[in-house]
Amino acid sequence: MLTVDAPAVTSQNNTQIGQILIVEDEELIRETIALTLREEGYEVLTAADGRRGLDIVHTISQSNSENRPPLDLIILDLMLPFVNGLDFCRVIRREGCGTPILMLSAKGSEMDRVVGLEVGADDYLTKPFGMRELVARCRALLRRQRIGVSPATSLKFREIVLYPNECRVIVREVEANLSPKEFRILELFMNHPRRVWSREQLLEKIWGIDFIGDSKTVDVHIRWLREKIELDPSHPEYLLTVRGFGYRFG
Ligand code: CA
Repeated sequence: MLTVDAPAVTSQNNTQIGQILIVEDEELIRETIALTLREEGYEVLTAADGRRGLDIVHTISQSNSENRPPLDLIILDLMLPFVNGLDFCRVIRREGCGTPILMLSAKGSEMDRVVGLEVGADDYLTKPFGMRELVARCRALLRRQRIGVSPATSLKFREIVLYPNECRVIVREVEANLSPKEFRILELFMNHPRRVWSREQLLEKIWGIDFIGDSKTVDVHIRWLREKIELDPSHPEYLLTVRGFGYRFG
């Protein structure tokens, strides 16, 4: 059933540039984007509907050890047959896939944009768009991804600087006194700016899969963390609640 398009180039160098999946049902748009990105040196996989796109994501995540480079970016259309873009995002984020997502849509309303970002898309581009703009957005997302995964000596977001190796956090130029759990939560958030995390995902990442307890534990720690990093903990600017989903940073 599943056939993943062969990458155009398979040299070591291009693997390092990045592998991008395009999920788009309009053939002309899909092929134009694919051609443009291949010319830029990226490896490109394509899917014409949401279900096929999910198959590709699953195939790659299951066969990571078997020579197939990981997905570095997903370009995802909002309106798709079988599984639409929003559900696609929800599914892969729930499964713990952190690959950056650039969402495409013919609709340009603020509502779509907000919903797209809340379900886990990292950026949003409204049709029609130019290829130069698309390439620029892809590069920015890939750069951000690289910064996130490289062993950073410090993570900085506005007035907060976190030093992973030293377990230190500086907030508005003053050292914050964080517990180990609070530190790990903040580090996770700062490594994935704007990504929405459900309480269950945070429990699994920070407390571990064997943790027996309920998701209120997460809420309590978020509240403590807000008291240490927010100027006004009751009106947070960093650790935001995403109603119905969980929390996000920035
Ligand atoms: Ca479409």
